[in-house]
Order: sequence, then C-alpha cells, then structure tokens
Amino acid sequence: MSQHFTPVAVARAHILAACAAVTGTQRVPVRDALGRVLAADVISPVSVPPHDNSAMDGYAVRAADLAAGTETRLRIVGTAYAGHAWQGEVGAGEALRIMTGAVMPAGADTVVIQESVRTDGDAVVVPPGQKAGQHRRRAGEDLHAGEAALRAGRLLRPADIGLAASLGVAELTVRRRVRVGVLSTGDEVMSIGDAPREGGIYDSNRYTLTGMLTRLGCEVVDLGVAGDTREALSAALESAVGEVDAIITSGGVSVGEADFVREILASLGQVEFWKIAMKPGRPMAFGRLGRGERGTLLFGLPGNPVATMVTFYFFAREALLTLMGVAPVAAPIHFSAVSDTAMKKQPGRTEYQRGVLELRDGGWHVAVTGAQGSGILRSMCDANCIIVLGDDCGNVAIGDAVTVIPFEGLI
Ligand code: AMP
Ligand code: MG
Repeated sequence: MSQHFTPVAVARAHILAACAAVTGTQRVPVRDALGRVLAADVISPVSVPPHDNSAMDGYAVRAADLAAGTETRLRIVGTAYAGHAWQGEVGAGEALRIMTGAVMPAGADTVVIQESVRTDGDAVVVPPGQKAGQHRRRAGEDLHAGEAALRAGRLLRPADIGLAASLGVAELTVRRRVRVGVLSTGDEVMSIGDAPREGGIYDSNRYTLTGMLTRLGCEVVDLGVAGDTREALSAALESAVGEVDAIITSGGVSVGEADFVREILASLGQVEFWKIAMKPGRPMAFGRLGRGERGTLLFGLPGNPVATMVTFYFFAREALLTLMGVAPVAAPIHFSAVSDTAMKKQPGRTEYQRGVLELRDGGWHVAVTGAQGSGILRSMCDANCIIVLGDDCGNVAIGDAVTVIPFEGLI
C-alpha cells in the first residue's frame, strides 16, 4: 500500500495524544453513578468487614480447648445472631452458638460448623481435626479503613456501586458528562418525517452514532443534517463549536467532497485529513475547532454506514473514553477464533469484517456475515463481533486463527 495511506496505529496514536479528560466534576448519589467515571479515589471510612465475624453457622470456640485426637465436650453459653453482638466472653471449656455474619465473641478464635457437631443437653461435642482460626472472617480482610476502595478513572460498574454502598458512602465525585454533537452531511440525506424524494436516503448514521455515544455514557446533541453547501456546513459547525466537547460528523470527507469541507474546517480550526490504510473506512478527518483552552474536537467520519460505525469504534471510542476521564483506557476484549470462512485480504491495511462468533466443539469459531459492503448496515445487525485482520495479515483460509472483538463489551 502506498505511503500516503496513514496506518491505523499512527492515526489512533495521533488522536489519543490530542485528548485529555474534561475537568468538571459533580457529586451524584451512589445509585446514579452507574456508568459514570470516578473523578476522585473513594477512601474507605470503615474497615470491611468492620469486625471479626463468623463465616458459617456453628459454634465459636477456643482452639486451645480442642483435644488433638479425640472429641471435646464444651458447655454452650448462649447464641450470637448477625447484627446483635453477644455481650460476654467465651471462657475455657465453653462454646457459643453463632450464626453467619455474627460478631466473633471475645475469647473465641475458631468456628466449628454445625453439621460436624453433636449436641447433648447444654453441651456441644466437637470432633477432632478442627483447624485453629477456621471459618472466621477477619476485620478488614476485604478493605482497611483509610485505603482507596475505588480509584479515580474507573468507569463505574454494578459491583463498584455495591462496594461504595457497602462503605456507607452516599455520594460519589464523578466527571461531568462529555457532550458530543452529531452531524450528518449530504444533500441526499433525509431525516425521519421528511417526504421521500428522488435520490434521497434516510439518515442512519445519526442514529447509530447516538446509540453508540449513549452506551458510552456521553450526552448527545443532535445537530441534524447539513446539505452539501458551504453555508449549511459552516452554520451547523459554528453553532456547536464551544457548546460541545466534540463534534462527530459523517460523510463529506471523501476525496470528491473534501475540498470545500477542508476550507471550512481550516477556517474554524486545525483539522487533518487522512486516508487511512483500512477497510471499511479510509477517509477521515480529525482536529480541533475553535479557540480557547480546549476548543472542540472534530471527528470527521466517512459516510458509509458501516464505515461510520467501524471508525467510531476504532478511533472515536478510545478518544471519548479519555475525554470522559477513564484511565487507563483498556483495549476492547479480543481473542482468537477459528475462521469458518475464507477471506481475501491485502496486506498493508487493516480490515474489519463483520462476523458471527459461536462456541463450538470446545472452541470459538467465526463466520463472516454475508456481503461486506461498507454501505450494508445489515451486516452489523447480523454480526455479534468484528473480525480484525491486521496490516500484516494476507488471505485467510478456512481453519486459520483470526482476531475477533465481540460487540458486547465494545459498547
Ligand atoms: P460520503 O462520505 O459523503 O461520500 O458518503 C458515502 C456514502 O455514505 C454515500 O453513499 C452516502 O449517501 C452515504 N451516507 C452519507 N451519510 C449518510 C447517513 N447519514 N446515513 C446513511 N448513509 C449516509
Ligand atoms: Mg456526502
């Protein structure tokens, strides 16, 4: 492939280098923090668990009382329930009936599970072979007071929400949401509700982009459709610069159209136009519009519906996560699968095929979803993964290993 094509890795690195987390933060109730990005470490005000407690229903005993090779008979002195500390001390020759989660009483250090004992009046008979300290959860074994329970930069998942709640933390400090404007371009592009017209097509990109951005946790600002005129495009962009953190456009960056778009973007900021060594994709623009401290990032994605989605996933996604304050941004989950389809592939560019991934005969298999044209959005609907054929990869034969990225988890 000739040198004027920019490798995927070079374009991605360039984009990432231009991105930094938004600085605004807000306090939100724990329940509302799902999917938000933590802006400050959550320091645990308590130890978890707060005190030694029993991991099982049974008897709290003193390990020193237990005979090595024979049964031990201990006097039952009471019962400890979870949530009700038993006042008193387990003395020599004594045992306390204890429930899971109940605080370990003073004096006792070991729990004998109820299934292994026999009771006899007010005595419990413990068989030999118990281990000192068994079935006791130690205070702080999950977390010590003063330690960071959750680190800044975390995209909060249900377990994180639960962990924060388990510390009694009511509110979390999260980054403000990233605002992204979405603009479609093209004289042929119609919005839902427009009367069908000769040569017109209904817009899909604003909808796929809105979906992907919403799943990512961004606030979406619909900038509508700009026709292929200087006035329409500059008006739409100018209205959004400074109002949003990023603008994502689709269409209008291919070679035939780039010239007047290039001029407009040059007048609004600094934008680079690339031909990326990838398929689908290829034409893409990236830069910064407006002045001021940060300006507004511009992602000019190609117009073909599959190309729009693929370039979003492989260029905009990481950049937006960085803006959202996610740190570190992890690579999407990818693994190797056996290809059930032969694929023609030119080395020197990265290809993203739509695939159906299936666990069969103890391993992952993937097949391509029919026609792969970059305008065929149905190939994305039918797929459950993207097959990534890297720059070095050539033709793929049935049975070859290929890299796949499942959609679930991607966004
Ligand atoms: P462009 O990059 O503007 O040359 O567009 C490439 C192809 O994508 C053309 O066939 C366009 O009609 C189509 N296209 C552009 N924008 C959209 C859109 N928002 N929704 C669906 N198809 C589009
Ligand atoms: Mg166009």
